[in-house]
Amino acid sequence: MRKPVIAGNWKLFKKTAETADLVNKLVPLVKNNRQVDIIIAPVFTVLSAAKQALSGSAIHLAAQDCYWQEEGAFTGEVSPGMLVDVGCSHVIVGHSERRQYFGETDQAVNCKIKAAVAAGLVVLFCIGETLAEREAGRTFEVLRTQLSGGTAGLTTTELEKIIIAYEPVWAIGTGKTASNEQAQEAHAFIRSEIAGLFGNGPADMVRILYGGSVKPENIKGLMAQKDIDGALVGGASLQADSFAAIANYD
Ligand code: PGA
Repeated sequence: MRKPVIAGNWKLFKKTAETADLVNKLVPLVKNNRQVDIIIAPVFTVLSAAKQALSGSAIHLAAQDCYWQEEGAFTGEVSPGMLVDVGCSHVIVGHSERRQYFGETDQAVNCKIKAAVAAGLVVLFCIGETLAEREAGRTFEVLRTQLSGGTAGLTTTELEKIIIAYEPVWAIGTGKTASNEQAQEAHAFIRSEIAGLFGNGPADMVRILYGGSVKPENIKGLMAQKDIDGALVGGASLQADSFAAIANYD
């Protein structure tokens, strides 16, 4: 069976003191010894502070992005090895905000995934269609292109280090969640595409998270869907009580 994952993407929020405060509140609220992977992804500058505050907790630490070179003259970038060095086990790659505002292409996403996996990180690989693409009936075509582009050249062993996050862009930060049926339909499509690219075994194993306005009120219905293995949570991960309620969904 696929182990569920609940991940919090803090985006561009929380400085050092706020990070320690949120982690300190979150840790006792999240149920212990459960068969769920809980992950938080704060900004780069507070990763060390978050790691320290998480000490003794089973919550995993992720970064929100990484570069694909390990070191060199690349001003402003952070490498996967540096993320491992500060205690990260996971990294988000290809978030729609990176694609939209920073021009991240499928090819760049692919390079980042390979470098992150090579450094020993588990990747939360984000894909998703915009509202215009959905309304034009292009959802599956967009997901297919992002999936094949992002995973190009990966081996089955490398795929085991990837968690896919389906995040319809129109549902991110809008309060508009995809219906359970819309989300399940996209997740089933993603799994069938992975089967086509890597075979049925890897497709059965790969975890696919839903993201986009996930809240304590809608997590149960989403998690009840056959192909939904967890959630990537933005806004609701910024408060300990709401993120804990999502993490403790069962
Ligand atoms: P949201 O963000 O939960 O605030 O919609 C999700 C995400 O962007 O990962």
